[in-house]
Amino acid sequence: MPKLLLASSNPGKIREYRLLLDNLGYQIVTLSDQRIRKIATEQGDSYEQNAQIKATTYAKLSQLITLADDSGLEVDALHGKPGVHSARFAGEDATDADRVTKLLAMMDGIPWNKRTANFKCVIAIAIPEGELKLCQGKCPGIISLEVRGKNGFGYDPIFYLPELDKTMAELPLELKNQLSHRGQAARKARKILKQLHN
Ligand code: IMP
Repeated sequence: MPKLLLASSNPGKIREYRLLLDNLGYQIVTLSDQRIRKIATEQGDSYEQNAQIKATTYAKLSQLITLADDSGLEVDALHGKPGVHSARFAGEDATDADRVTKLLAMMDGIPWNKRTANFKCVIAIAIPEGELKLCQGKCPGIISLEVRGKNGFGYDPIFYLPELDKTMAELPLELKNQLSHRGQAARKARKILKQLHN
């Protein structure tokens, strides 16, 4: 079975991708499985650029077909922030809880009907010394007034889905994957990966 390198060190993303990319005929391996050290790759100012840099860098290093994603949360009332800076929004050493607290503080006083937001995800698939493909996904929601739920990662506990009356962090992994920005992008990525392998 060919190996597919999942170029992420985010345990939340890795958990989701293991399910999103199962039964595809690839053995999914991570950077730590391949003993590849994480290097600074997120210098771009778009998800596309960052995903592309990560995928091509690690495909060259590993000589494996490589999938990388860059994702973020865009809040309308904050003019799209934190956006591509979602992971470092509260500083390099901050935790998910620090980022959530900072975002809720910035949204203090913003009424319910103005708390709309989108999660976005761009996946890049790179072949060593070869072509690069991109796919995208987007999921709308509302920034809740308080934290709810223990599942998922990042901003999930404050990302409210009105049609389910739940935050992303209250959903089982399978249901998050069905609805999420990452799930949508991954279903497109599956088609590309299937073709590569035939
Ligand atoms: P990056 O893609 O490694 O730059 O990190 C994206 C950051 O956006 C994550 O660290 C989270 O803070 C946030 N993010 C991206 N996708 C999700 C998600 O599915 N749930 C919650 N937060 C997310």
